[in-house]
Order: sequence, then C-alpha cells, then structure tokens
Amino acid sequence: MTLPALFVSHGAPNVILHDSPTRRFLAGLGAQLGRPRAIVAISAHWEARVPTVNASAQPTTIHDFFGFEPPLYEMQYAASGAPELAREVARRLEGAGLRAVVDDARGLDHGVWVPLKLMYPQADIPVTQISVQPHESTRHHFLIGQNLRELRQDNVLVLASGNATHNLREMMPGESEPPAWVTAFAGWLRTAVTAGDVGALLEYRDRAPYAAKNHPSEEHFLPLFVALGAGTPGNSGRIIHSSTSYGVLAMDAFAFD
Ligand code: ZN
Repeated sequence: MTLPALFVSHGAPNVILHDSPTRRFLAGLGAQLGRPRAIVAISAHWEARVPTVNASAQPTTIHDFFGFEPPLYEMQYAASGAPELAREVARRLEGAGLRAVVDDARGLDHGVWVPLKLMYPQADIPVTQISVQPHESTRHHFLIGQNLRELRQDNVLVLASGNATHNLREMMPGESEPPAWVTAFAGWLRTAVTAGDVGALLEYRDRAPYAAKNHPSEEHFLPLFVALGAGTPGNSGRIIHSSTSYGVLAMDAFAFD
C-alpha cells in the first residue's frame, strides 16, 4: 500500500478535548487512510540543529504546553517506537548528504501525539519522529521529505505536523472570523499546493502575501516542506481539510500522493 504524505495543522493541544471541525477531521482521518505499518512524524515542537531521529523503543508522552485544562496533562499516547525504522531514516538522510543524529531517549511532543491520538486512538502503530531545523531553509526540509518518499511504498505514513498559519501574538477568541492577512496567505497556500507549484512554495517567504506576518518564526510551516518533498514529483497536493480557529490559525491539511 502506498500512503500519501500528510501535512496537518495541529492547533492548540486542547483540540483533543472540544468538538471542532479540526477535531472531527482528525478523528476520521485514520479510518480514511487505513492502517500503516509505522509512522514517521515531523513536528514543529521538536527543534534541533541537525536532523535528529527518535529511536526510543517506548517513547514517553511529552506535555510540552502551559496553561491548558488539567486532563490534557494526564493523557498518554503509549505507541511503541520504531528504532529500526529510525536508524533507516537516519541512514537515508546521511545518504543524501545531511548530518543525522539518532536519539534513543526522546518522547513524542504534542504536535505528534495530539493528532495521532485522534487518528489512531489505540496507539498500536509504531512511531518515530524527526526534528525540524528552524534555522534551515525550506529546501533543506524538502530534501528530508524526498528521502522519505520511498518509505511510503512500504506502508509507512509520513506525517508532518505544524500549522498553515501561526501568529500566536494575534490570537483572537475561538470562533473569530479570520482577518484578511490570514485568508490571503491561506488562499495563496491552497492555490500553490493544488497547482503543484513546488517552486512557489519553496520561495513562499518572498512570494506569499503576508508570509512573515503569518509565520513570524518558521517552525510551524517547515514541516509542510517535508510532506511536499515526500510527495511524488509532478503530482499536485490535495486539500483534505480547511477551517480556522482563534481567527489566526488556518487549520488546513494537505495530502501529497
Ligand atoms: Zn504547535
């Protein structure tokens, strides 16, 4: 089975507690995809200077957020790790000329376990994770994705987790209408993804409207380029979800076949 590579917007960690379009989407996504043999995730919430791959046999659940409802801090996602796959990923990245480090002790951050707990609540699919390099380029992350592409043919799900827009300084009440600078960027992004315009996407910082306003820092957008790189060249991306929360968080999700 060849699975698409996915980019999902994870939003706030309490997405898991309250009904919303994003929660409904994620809760149905696992059944829609089917069951991969393993998952390679990349999330905005693990930053490292070089690509670091989680080879923990039993990753812990990291509660890396503050000020949310107490039940969130009790939640666990007890999926086993995928140490062998992690080492294979590291070898593939090194084969592409990237320096890769293996980490045997890392847990799963909320950018990974929150979407996965909704997608695969039984936590019975092994998971490994790669860090983002926030100081590196879109092309660097695209190259990581390209070197994961073959794993898709081996029933491995490449899951990139960030946010389509992410300016937390401009947060609004939950159901607010998005401002024009958010809809302009999110609209540009959807157009570029569905047109398969990889060149425009890689240069989004210069070409998308309000790019720096929507991503004052890039860590929540860079996972997109891993999913994009893992897609088959020439195929355009598909929009599999679109909604907005807190006015400024575009919650779009994309599939790259
Ligand atoms: Zn986040």
